[in-house]
Amino acid sequence: MKNKYNILFILLVIVFIGGYLFYSNNIPTKETKNDPVEITEDDYLKVYFMDVGQADCILIDNNHEYALIDGGNTIDGKKLVKYFKELGIEKFNYVIATHPHEDHIGGLNFIIYNFDIDHFIGTNIKTDFKSYSNMMNALEKENIKYEVPNINDTFRVGEALFRIVYLDNNIEDINSSSIVLEMTYKNNSFLFTGDTTSDAEKNYLDNLNEIDVLKVSHHGSQYATSAQFLMKTKPKYAIISVGKDNEYGYPKQVVLDKLKELNTKVYRTDQLGTIILTSNGNDIKIENIKTDTNNE
Ligand SMILES: [Zn+2]
Repeated sequence: MKNKYNILFILLVIVFIGGYLFYSNNIPTKETKNDPVEITEDDYLKVYFMDVGQADCILIDNNHEYALIDGGNTIDGKKLVKYFKELGIEKFNYVIATHPHEDHIGGLNFIIYNFDIDHFIGTNIKTDFKSYSNMMNALEKENIKYEVPNINDTFRVGEALFRIVYLDNNIEDINSSSIVLEMTYKNNSFLFTGDTTSDAEKNYLDNLNEIDVLKVSHHGSQYATSAQFLMKTKPKYAIISVGKDNEYGYPKQVVLDKLKELNTKVYRTDQLGTIILTSNGNDIKIENIKTDTNNE
């Protein structure tokens, strides 16, 4: 009798171990991040790295609440308005101008005239560029306040939590003044860097966390994305917003090599067009589409 129970017990153990091995092989691991992930219609975060050629424009959509980081070049303005209207956008909760260079704020006056904006955020740096005066004039005409945040200020767009990691209101080098923004959605995190420089990165290394997705600074310039910066952030994915055959030779090989060393997967708008990341809070799906904002 006792022997029968022993055999039954051993059989049960075999069934449990077998079952465990079968299921553990089927549990998605971190490496399968780009397989289709389950996204429900009313609970998702989408980040669009718009292909605006040699420029930056990032749209964030959390359950139909929207943020926009930078607005491409002036020539992109009309196309961006058309694309965003087609997506059904009427209002941006936040628009962020990382720094007042043409390739980041050029299209923003079109955005200001065509959409409601709850909050418009930028640095205190003033320039005499035409795109800067266009942006400031549009804000004045639309009666939208220009807000300058402080480091570590936070705000929400839907369930996405934004944190100002860095900005510099008192520096001559405009790239180094860039607003650096961290965005957290459940277990996923993103870092948007504008055109920040390695010089500036030194000032906020201690304010960085590990992230899933990095918007590579300054279109892949060799004067940003230092080894120390990458050691702190350890991005799994890196997006480079860059123009095809641009005159600067961006992204620089030295930056691509550093990302490769970290096993970071790199996605480039010059090769893929607009890159769309969809997060369910745990996993991130990466797709690309061609939009008419593509610039050769
Ligand atoms: Zn730029």
